[in-house]
Amino acid sequence: MKEFDLVVIGSGPAGQRAAIQACKLGKRAAIVEKNTRVGGVSVHTGTIPSKTVREAVLYLSGWRQRGFYGMNHRERTKITPDDVLERVKLTLSHQVEVMSDQLCRNGVEVIGGAASFVDKNTLAIKTNGGELEHIKAHNILVAVGTRPYRPSEVPFNGSTVLDSDEILSFNKMPRSLTVIGGGVIGIEYATIFAALDVKVTLVEERARVLSFLDSEIIDEFQHQMRDQGVVLRLEETVKTIETDADNRVITTLNSGKKIQTDMLLFAAGRAGSTDSLNLPAAGLAADSRGRLTVNEFFQTQVPHIYAAGDVIGFPSLAATSMVQGRLSACHMFNHEFRNKLEYFPYGIYSVPEISMVGATEQELTQQGIAYETGVVRFREVARGQILGLQQGMLKMLFAVDDFRLLGVHVMGEGATELIHIGQAVITLGGTLDYFVDSAFNYPTLAEAYKVAALNAWNKMKPYRKAIPPNVVPISNDALKEYSDS
Ligand SMILES: Cc1cc2nc3c(=O)[nH]c(=O)nc-3n(C[C@H](O)[C@H](O)[C@H](O)COP(=O)(O)OP(=O)(O)OC[C@H]3O[C@@H](n4cnc5c(N)ncnc54)[C@H](O)[C@@H]3O)c2cc1C
Repeated sequence: MKEFDLVVIGSGPAGQRAAIQACKLGKRAAIVEKNTRVGGVSVHTGTIPSKTVREAVLYLSGWRQRGFYGMNHRERTKITPDDVLERVKLTLSHQVEVMSDQLCRNGVEVIGGAASFVDKNTLAIKTNGGELEHIKAHNILVAVGTRPYRPSEVPFNGSTVLDSDEILSFNKMPRSLTVIGGGVIGIEYATIFAALDVKVTLVEERARVLSFLDSEIIDEFQHQMRDQGVVLRLEETVKTIETDADNRVITTLNSGKKIQTDMLLFAAGRAGSTDSLNLPAAGLAADSRGRLTVNEFFQTQVPHIYAAGDVIGFPSLAATSMVQGRLSACHMFNHEFRNKLEYFPYGIYSVPEISMVGATEQELTQQGIAYETGVVRFREVARGQILGLQQGMLKMLFAVDDFRLLGVHVMGEGATELIHIGQAVITLGGTLDYFVDSAFNYPTLAEAYKVAALNAWNKMKPYRKAIPPNVVPISNDALKEYSDS
């Protein structure tokens, strides 16, 4: 029987990073993956395909140029599913190649098959060829991720009633689409299809979509969704979903409203993929949504069995899963590590995109922390003008007692990239001074930080004490040389 220092179940972001980290520490590591290709949900049905669809749609629809050339500007007047999905296929195969190469170079053994526990240190693997193998592991990482939640009452049929995996093989461009669920996945696809001129109706049981975000950003975002023609059915729940004789989808809400569309995307939740792992054999149990509970070091209640990524729940991002996977491997092999996940950025690739780090206004108010805001619209910065941006804003929240940056919220072009400046400042304990005193490349969207900071600085006059100016003479030769050239 083969024996490893670490066996990872699942080759998504968490599993890959853990296995590579273990090999870098000189350990024997293997990944068991039931899919024929490595990469997990992130590469095959989640992050990468949905972002590639978005990029293809923004290009083909000419969406980014509409600020200048008008809302009727189209790069192509007729867009087919193949136009969109061809780019996805190419991107995915490149991603799989890069990842397989990384695993191979680092000495990670990839075993094809579905793993389940025999006992706390033994896994049975039903290989893709149908044989049963057993392997031994001193440590195990469960990184099996999640799959779409598919309630039995929803008549999924793979063509007109789809979950978020199936939408990636849609073969006919719908004229209208119902999206059930105003979480990240529902919102991303709703706005992507709206950019394709599909009439979208979104049903969400809460009073707002993406309710964990800052409410000012969401007010603005919902306004923009409506402006794109999306109908928001908020505080509404679904009674039935049926298809009629013409294969149209009829969604009846508990309020009595009916929505008739060509296609429906059900995006209301995901469940951990733990049901086939035979967890009791390892002394483990999942919660009602198939998730595992771990401590701060990603250990389950069986100390040498770790879990990371979406299977442990919030925040369920590829970005955080990678870090969790690496940290779990560092902990299991007693390697020094720092958990800096407190300030992770949240990226929502809707149209327009949104990103946040740190606290929201509502959280600070609830906690009784006094703060002031600095806000700027992208149309107020030169780069925004150059790009023709009508939409987009950046907001920073600063503590009034020590001027520390507490939260950053960005909506609009480049939001998911811009957020990292705010993330760095928050993580390093930076204050308003950094933004006021530093020069930013001009013209850039990043300059929005500077303008928003000056806005906050003006508002914070009543809180400013007589602070001696922090003037640092410029003596950097390299900088001088640069400006002389
Ligand atoms: C539509 C969509 C869009 C998303 N967009 C983003 C985004 O923009 N940014 C972001 O950061 N995150 C995004 N996410 C979330 C991201 O995809 C997940 O957070 C990430 O994939 C979780 O990684 P993971 O390592 O937990 O495992 P996963 O990527 O879920 O992979 C788990 C792997 O385990 C394998 N497996 C399961 N059971 C077994 C078994 N018994 N034996 C062997 N193998 C098994 C599965 O086949 C799978 O390959 C998105 C998700 C979805 C669905």
